[in-house]
Order: sequence, then C-alpha cells, then structure tokens
Amino acid sequence: MAKVVFFEEKCKGCYLCVTACPNKIIKVAEDRMNAKGFRPVEVTDQEKCIGCAMCATICPDCVIEVFR
Ligand code: SF4
Ligand code: SF4
Repeated sequence: MAKVVFFEEKCKGCYLCVTACPNKIIKVAEDRMNAKGFRPVEVTDQEKCIGCAMCATICPDCVIEVFR
C-alpha cells in the first residue's frame, strides 16, 4: 500500500491535488489551518491510494511525497 505524506505548512490551498487524484481520496481538512492561513489537505482513505503520484506531480509547491 502506498503512503502519502503532506508537508502541510507549505500548502497554499490551491486544491489542484484534490481534483487530480483519480480515486478522489484527497480532501480539504476542515478542522485546521496552517500558519499561512490555508486549510491543508489530507487523505481520507489511505488504503485506496494506488501510489500513482498524480497529486505530488501536480502540486506546485512540493507539499506531497508519495512512498510506494
Ligand atoms: S496541490 Fe499542493 S499546494 Fe495545492 S492544495 Fe494540494 S498540497 Fe496544497
Ligand atoms: S498517489 Fe494517486 S491515488 Fe494516492 S492520493 Fe495521490 S493521486 Fe490519489
């Protein structure tokens, strides 16, 4: 199973990763903000991650790292 890690303090809330994920398992974290004032993102169901790294590829700020 792949693992996705977010360096959420770098996230600028563009949410390109949310739309890029083919399995739609990335969502906006509703319970917190980072120091920049943006809501970061999180994976809702890690077991559904196929490790495609589309999220990491599209992120303009290198917030996401995918381990597989
Ligand atoms: S693409 Fe990167 S900067 Fe944009 S919301 Fe996702 S993690 Fe944050
Ligand atoms: S690696 Fe692929 S399946 Fe996993 S969260 Fe990123 S875009 Fe979605």
